[in-house]
Amino acid sequence: MNLYGKTAIVTGGAQGIGLAIATELASQGAVVTIADRSAEGAERSAAELTESGLRAFSVAADVTSAEAADAMVATHEERRGPLDILVNNAGISINGSIRKLTDEDWNRTLAVNLTGTMNCSRAAARVMGERRSGRIVNIASRAWLGWFGQSAYAASKGGVVSFTRSLAIELARLGITVNAIAPGLIDTPLIRNETPEVMERLLAAQPTGVIGTPEDVGWAVSYFAGSAGASTTGQVLYVCGGKSLYTRPA
Ligand code: NDP
Repeated sequence: MNLYGKTAIVTGGAQGIGLAIATELASQGAVVTIADRSAEGAERSAAELTESGLRAFSVAADVTSAEAADAMVATHEERRGPLDILVNNAGISINGSIRKLTDEDWNRTLAVNLTGTMNCSRAAARVMGERRSGRIVNIASRAWLGWFGQSAYAASKGGVVSFTRSLAIELARLGITVNAIAPGLIDTPLIRNETPEVMERLLAAQPTGVIGTPEDVGWAVSYFAGSAGASTTGQVLYVCGGKSLYTRPA
């Protein structure tokens, strides 16, 4: 019960990696708010956790809206108590070569992945800063190092890494740590639209040759969120089957 007595918000927590993170934090004793743009999805996932004896609640929040991010934090504090842990997990991935990339896809990718992370971090930093205590964990991606056909996604996640490092410096004296996790290929609905051929190539490029699980990311988040991570800030932890080291030519 590493996180007993703590409260957390996980954005994009209705499914995939976010749900695994919420489950892990709640299993460690935290009271968790699952935030998602779909109220139904967030409610369903919070109910699943509650049924298994964990303490989870839901709130509808589209992270692209600063007002929604502020309201999400305010609602959490009002109903669940002081916010200790924010996990910025909500994200989208749109594939497409630069020659086919639309303005809409570029703007949407940055709005969710980067501006969304900023909106929620700003709202959390305001309340955490007053108490001089808090943990912010941002879900970036190994793709920020570069990946074929993902310039928009990679740029948004590179922004998340850069934002993480600068925010860590800014908030260190306020007792708030800010870290990032860079997952590689993880088995979630986000990647299930890929064709079998693309999946085969993605797996071939992974040094371990094995797809990661959402739980792998959940465990990494619990390190940054728990007492063991108290002195770690501004870092990027890769949960990517070795892909940050090199990728096998596919
Ligand atoms: P999923 O698509 O499975 O889940 C993402 C969740 O975020 C969904 O519930 C989605 O809702 C929600 N969401 C999307 N946009 C918003 C928004 N504007 N406001 C609030 N919630 C939103 O993705 P994953 O679980 O796979 O990914 C989670 C994170 O991990 C993302 O940041 C992703 O970039 C990152 N990641 C994933 C990898 C992978 O291989 N799966 C690899 C590297 C990084 P809805 O379904 O309604 O869109």
